[in-house]
Amino acid sequence: MDKLFKNVINIFNEACKTADIGKTIHTILKQPKNELIVNFPVRMDSGEMKLFKGYRIQHNNILGPYKGGFRFHPQVNLDEVKGLAMLMTLKCSLADLPFGGAKGGVKFNPKDHSESEMERITRRFVHALGNNIGPNFDIPAPDMGTSAQTMNWMMDTYLNTSGSLERQCLKGVVTGKSVKVGGTKGRAQATGYGVVMCIEEWAKQHNYDLSQKTFIIQGFGKVGSWAAKRLDSLGAKVIAVNDCAGTLYMKDGIPIRQLTEHIQNKGSLEDFMGQELLSREDFFSMKADVMIPAALENQIGEEEARMAQVELIAEGANGPINNKADAILEERGIAVIPDILANSGGVIVSYFEWLQNRSNDYWHEHHVLEKLHDKITQAYHIVHDLSIELNVSKREAAYIRALKNIDEVYTERGIFP
Ligand code: NAD
Repeated sequence: MDKLFKNVINIFNEACKTADIGKTIHTILKQPKNELIVNFPVRMDSGEMKLFKGYRIQHNNILGPYKGGFRFHPQVNLDEVKGLAMLMTLKCSLADLPFGGAKGGVKFNPKDHSESEMERITRRFVHALGNNIGPNFDIPAPDMGTSAQTMNWMMDTYLNTSGSLERQCLKGVVTGKSVKVGGTKGRAQATGYGVVMCIEEWAKQHNYDLSQKTFIIQGFGKVGSWAAKRLDSLGAKVIAVNDCAGTLYMKDGIPIRQLTEHIQNKGSLEDFMGQELLSREDFFSMKADVMIPAALENQIGEEEARMAQVELIAEGANGPINNKADAILEERGIAVIPDILANSGGVIVSYFEWLQNRSNDYWHEHHVLEKLHDKITQAYHIVHDLSIELNVSKREAAYIRALKNIDEVYTERGIFP
């Protein structure tokens, strides 16, 4: 079993016990409702045909249409996607959104392909999925290796392969589109900003002046870079960023705007302002106040948990800390804001995009971000209070709250037939 899936199932089992979730609901939620695997051919620029494997896992839809990102990454596999889909069900429930949970992906490395190959891979994948996605059934969004451009191609393919009469009301088939194409203002920054909004709530509770604190971030993609921008605007110092190339360290603070431009042009931290890169170990053992993992899952294992020298870890990524590391961090008094809370800003604003698409409306950015703030801080305090009431970690409290919500809906609706 994939490590992420195993970690998620372990916490899920524990939380079901504490929340007193009955056997039937536990059994239903332990497995996804639908598991779809598609193999589809795509013509490369050389003329050669290549076969790709894509996944869509629809975990649960008791709260509403399936919702969750598409990942393009060489490590994508069925179990990983199953774990991520379960996290989506819990995330949507915790944020009180009328969505279920799903996740998908295609196993390949985007770095190996030209823009036109990326477009053909994306369009063929959507075509292969056919009616297994739809604005009232299953609504994908960006994740690792996918972008607003990927979503634009997905929407366009879906619309062009649907009946022409209904085309204009199907834009909500994906969220995270660019604003011109029907996306919402505020979606690009939503996940990263949401992570920092949670940190801001934590800081208020701990009399922590963020402008005096230092931050380290793993991953400078869609989540990490926007988290860094919000921190920068709060006057906080990001002293280290880690990606596949290594660790960039600047003790007086990394200039975030310049780094964003550099990554856009060069694609990695290499050669930034003549800085030598440090190692991955240097990153995880670095002394700072807050760490934001915003890259892959399973990045913080026992070793990293022992070497960490931070006070707080806010999970921008999904599943970056494994179960054993969680226990070590707790023992060492390092606080954790768990993924299904910390990175829920993306799906919250995806919901706003879906609402706007349904009514052909366009909201102002400040309105979107204000509503995001209301929703995510409310969830933060619910989780915080529950963790104190039950004397459990914030992660367990978040799972318990999400599961209880789903359990109540099953109880009130009953199970067909
Ligand atoms: P992205 O593809 O935009 O960025 C990923 C970043 O991680 C890049 O900077 C990349 O260089 C870095 N990275 C990849 N492999 C690495 C490795 N082995 N070591 C160090 N760095 C590595 O992806 P993203 O959308 O920012 O997603 C990052 C994480 O956040 C994922 O776990 C994703 O599931 C989660 N997440 C994303 C969103 C969203 O809205 N995009 C929402 C919720 C959760």
